[in-house]
Amino acid sequence: MIPQYLSHMASRAKGQPMFSILQEAQELERSGKSILHFELGDPDFNTPTNIVDKACESLKNGNTHYAPSMGVYEFRESIVQTTYGSRGFKPDIDQVLVTPGGNPIIYLTVACTTNPGDEVIVPDPGFPTYYSSIDICGAKAVNVPLREENNFQLSPDDVFSAVTSRTKLIILNSPSNPTGACMSKDELKAIASFAQNRGIYLLSDEIYARLVYGGEDFYSPGKLEHCKENVIILNGFSKAFAMTGWRLGVAVGPKKLIKKMNLMLNTIVSCVPPFIQEAGIEAINGDQSQLKKMKNTYYKRLNLIVDGLNSINGISCIRPKGAMYVFPNIKKTGLSSNEFSIKCLNEAGVALLPGNCFGRYGEGYARLCFVNSQKVIKEAMTRLDKIF
Ligand code: PMP
Repeated sequence: MIPQYLSHMASRAKGQPMFSILQEAQELERSGKSILHFELGDPDFNTPTNIVDKACESLKNGNTHYAPSMGVYEFRESIVQTTYGSRGFKPDIDQVLVTPGGNPIIYLTVACTTNPGDEVIVPDPGFPTYYSSIDICGAKAVNVPLREENNFQLSPDDVFSAVTSRTKLIILNSPSNPTGACMSKDELKAIASFAQNRGIYLLSDEIYARLVYGGEDFYSPGKLEHCKENVIILNGFSKAFAMTGWRLGVAVGPKKLIKKMNLMLNTIVSCVPPFIQEAGIEAINGDQSQLKKMKNTYYKRLNLIVDGLNSINGISCIRPKGAMYVFPNIKKTGLSSNEFSIKCLNEAGVALLPGNCFGRYGEGYARLCFVNSQKVIKEAMTRLDKIF
């Protein structure tokens, strides 16, 4: 007999919509259509060679056993030092948890801070894993809009007025996926102080911290209380180091919370492979020249894609300050976000994401990831120009 039931938790799982769009685009590709990919946030560069070499060396040296579930000591120690260099404070080593990528940190934070029915404040448009994790845990997402007229920056007043007695967690993401907006230091500080005073956890998703362009400064809300009370920093190696397939992330947060996140994580994955962590040490302490080169290249591509989109009928695009995405307004094309993305895929072979993948305030927008070659970006702009 085939069982007819699934748990409530399983039925609430939605996952990441971008993977299903990638699958659709790949099916078209297999049928012979030329597709230009702008849908996934995956750098076209391979991981810098010094990092790859370190992983191979580590494997050859027999680093193939279980690692401590909190992470390899030397790697966590490097994170302590890097946090000091980049954010101005030294967390205790027990505040550092190594994870298989940034995504699990979102889920674990929501799972360890909310009960069913509790509220989580999320930026909308925002990264889909926020919504998915909140749904799985039975909590309620309270969406706070990122308005285009405010350069897609989250307004502290909107956050304050969304807080209720059931709010257990506020999620911030600067630079942002999908808008590329960076919040100012004052805004971040205002929200962080508010959360600290009210005793509410704050997850600061800083996965794009190293991808801030044009001389803008990066500020972490963790600076206020050194992640000792209520702030959890999410960081990961996928983006700036072009290591999406390696699955390496790091959480820095209050010890009590990190301890529980570790117990959940080691129940599911035991540990992150030790050779990956050794490569992580090389990534943050080794030669940074390939990273600088990638970032400079991304900035050129950002300008190319923004100018290209702004020259197409019915599309207008704010120049983002960070991350790897542009979030053009497509309302004047007269199409919904879904219709727009289907038209781009079918008529131009340009795979991008409808803005409503990122929340209801994303309707009327699309997201394109610009970590693609200048040649591909130019070709995509030419193809889109023909259909609008
Ligand atoms: N946070 C944000 C805002 C992201 O865009 C992503 C990846 N797209 C992640 C977290 C997770 O990245 P990963 O699991 O690859 O480290």
